[in-house]
Amino acid sequence: MEKLRVLELYSGIGGMHYALTESSVPAEVVAAVDVNTTANEIYKHNFPNTLLLPKTIEGMTLSDFNKLDFDMILMSPPCQPFTRIGLQGDVSDPRTKSFLYILELLPRLSKLPRFILLENVKGFETSSARDALIKTLKECGYSFQELMISPTCIGIPNSRLRYFLIAKAPLGSLSFQTTLEILDGFPKTASSDLTGKSTVSDSHCTTLSSNMRDNKDIIYKLETAQDLERKRSQNSEETVRRLQDFLEEEGQGTGMDHYLLPRKTLLRYAMLMDIVNPTCRRSVCFTKGYGHYVEGTGSVLQSCSDVELESVFKSLEVLSEEEKLKQLSRLKLRYFTPREIANLMGFPPHFTFPPNISIKQQYRVLGNSLNVHVVAKLISLLVL
Ligand code: SAH
Repeated sequence: MEKLRVLELYSGIGGMHYALTESSVPAEVVAAVDVNTTANEIYKHNFPNTLLLPKTIEGMTLSDFNKLDFDMILMSPPCQPFTRIGLQGDVSDPRTKSFLYILELLPRLSKLPRFILLENVKGFETSSARDALIKTLKECGYSFQELMISPTCIGIPNSRLRYFLIAKAPLGSLSFQTTLEILDGFPKTASSDLTGKSTVSDSHCTTLSSNMRDNKDIIYKLETAQDLERKRSQNSEETVRRLQDFLEEEGQGTGMDHYLLPRKTLLRYAMLMDIVNPTCRRSVCFTKGYGHYVEGTGSVLQSCSDVELESVFKSLEVLSEEEKLKQLSRLKLRYFTPREIANLMGFPPHFTFPPNISIKQQYRVLGNSLNVHVVAKLISLLVL
C-alpha cells in the first residue's frame, strides 16, 4: 500500500499524528496546521521532521491546500463553540469560521481526500456546524459514520466522551458495524446507513437528585446517590484497567510533593472534588483548566491508600478549619501529573514537553487534546 499523504488540521500537540502512527496505516503527515505558539512548540519538539505551518487555516488559499496533495484529513476543530460550558455559539462563534471555510473549500479541491476523520466534543452532534459538515460530505458523495466514544470503551480508566466522524470518498464504501455501544455510564448509540443518513441517539443516565441523605451509605461530599452508584459500577468493570498502570513511580526526590493540593484548595473544594485512588478503574475527563481550577476539570488522586476516604469525610462538616485540614491531609490528595494524564490519553513514552513549557501550559494543551488509542482504532477502521 502506498503511503497516504495526511493533512493534520488544528494539530495542537499532535494527538492525531500519534494516533496515525499507532494505527499502522502506512502514512506520512505532509503538513500540520495550528496557530497556537505553545502547542506548536511542543509539536515541533516531538515531530522535528514534520512540516508545521504556524498560521490560521482561513489564512491558507485553495491553491495552498492543493499543493499539499493530501489523501486524508485529520482534524479537531475548536470545541468551545459546542461545549455545555461554552456559550454554544455554534456557527455564529468566530472560532467556527475556519471550520466553515474548510467545508467551503472541500468541494473545490482539485482532488477530494479519500479519508476524513473529525473529532469534537459531545454537543457537536446537535450543532449546525455538524449539519453543515454532513451536507458538504453528502454533496461530495462521501459515505460516513458518526460515533460517540469514550476511552473507557477500550479499557482505559478515563472518561472522555467525544464525537467522531469518519468519512470515505466516493470510490470506496464504508462497511462499518452500524452501531456502537458506549460503556461510560452515558450509553450512547450512534448509527448511520451507508447512504449517509445518520442519527445519534442519546440516553443520558445521570440525573440530579436531592434525596442523597436518604441513602444508607455514607455519601461523602456533595455527591448524589446516582453518582455513587455510577462510580461503584465503573470501579467493578473488570475490562477496564486500574489507574495504577498509568501512574508515575512515587519515590524520594520525584517531586510529587509539588502536585499535592494546597491547603486553601482542600478547604474550599474538598466536597466538590472527584477523588480516585490507584486501584480505581475510572477518572473524569481532564480539561484544560486542570491543576488550576478544581471543580469539574478532572479527578484528583488519593495517594495515601491506607486511609479510608469515608473515615475522613464522615464528620468533616462539623470540624474546625484546622481539624478539617488535618483530616483531609491524611489522604495525601494530589493532582495527576501531566505525564500521567498523557499516559491515560495514550501518548507514547517518548512524547515529551520542551523544558520551558510550564506545568500549567502542559495541562492546558493536554486538556485540548484527544485519546490517541481511540483515534488510532478509528483510523484503522476507516482505512484498513
Ligand atoms: N487535536 C489537537 C488539539 C486540537 S484543539 C491535539 O491533539 O492537541 C484545537 C486547536 O485548534 C488548538 O490547538 C488551536 O490553537 C487550533 N486553532 C483554533 N483555531 C484555529 C485556526 N483558525 N487556524 C488554525 N488553528 C486553529
